[in-house]
Amino acid sequence: MGSLLRETDYFNLYAIGDGIYAAMAKPGQGAWSNAGIVNLGDSVLVFDSFGTPTAGKELRRQAEDITGKNVQYLVNSHYHGDHVFGNQAFKDAAIIATSETLRLCAEKHKMDDFNSEVKEMRQYLSDIKGKIASAKDDIIKQSLMNQYEEMAKVLDDLPELEIVLPSLIFEEKLIIRGSQRQVELLCFGGGHTPSDTFMYIPDEKIAFMGDLLTEKLHLPIVDPEQFQVILQRVNQMMIETFVPGHGRVSDLSLVKTLQGYLVFLTEKAKEAHEREEEAEDFFVRLENPKDYADWKGVNGIRANLIKAYQFYGK
Ligand SMILES: [Zn+2]
Repeated sequence: MGSLLRETDYFNLYAIGDGIYAAMAKPGQGAWSNAGIVNLGDSVLVFDSFGTPTAGKELRRQAEDITGKNVQYLVNSHYHGDHVFGNQAFKDAAIIATSETLRLCAEKHKMDDFNSEVKEMRQYLSDIKGKIASAKDDIIKQSLMNQYEEMAKVLDDLPELEIVLPSLIFEEKLIIRGSQRQVELLCFGGGHTPSDTFMYIPDEKIAFMGDLLTEKLHLPIVDPEQFQVILQRVNQMMIETFVPGHGRVSDLSLVKTLQGYLVFLTEKAKEAHEREEEAEDFFVRLENPKDYADWKGVNGIRANLIKAYQFYGK
């Protein structure tokens, strides 16, 4: 994982290379996902901004304190709130994303009416509470409790949340050259969302993956086919250190595990269609495969089995 440098209320900061830091979220504190800090020499780049303005502010403070330089770039790996709701702490930086991620941020995070947003979020939290009470599976119960804690932090911050959209737009590849190193922002398409960007640092063979990589998590999947193509390409890049969007810093084995998971979902869904099996029979029979029994997620593996079944039934 690298060496622990600093501990904050929201995240722990690890050095994983010379001037490269992984900001690993503490559960339930509103950071909600992992972020990264890269000293480019003459400036600093931050990868993802966490799930709340408060955590985002602390990320910026730490980035500038530990490097002694100003943050010039913020990358948004994808549109999900747990990676972009800290954007307002980086308003004066160039906020980089693909055009599709910009479009989704603008569409999904529209805050038309503050009061109805608060109402909706309270309703969502009370729904989760109900699900926690009735959850029979311990891991799903824990996942729901964590979701509740993180969402409660977002609700706390909502009065000051400002939606700040990406301002520097690229499509497939953007190289940022600092005085001491360069980083590559790469988008091979979308698997977790319609557009997923990751950051590759060639000299150090390090990648910050956003949610293209997570540890023991039934992460949302929009396109299982494209997700596999993306990970195959990542697999060939000789990257040694991976910072996932959720979970611990790892090596290529984490990519292979997620590839195996996607292959599992795909194969089972295709087999079910070949047998002309109805959705419900398929889900019941595959409810809890043991390889993934300890993976977290508020809907367990079921949501992804449904997704794959629907995807290959088209
Ligand atoms: Zn995500």
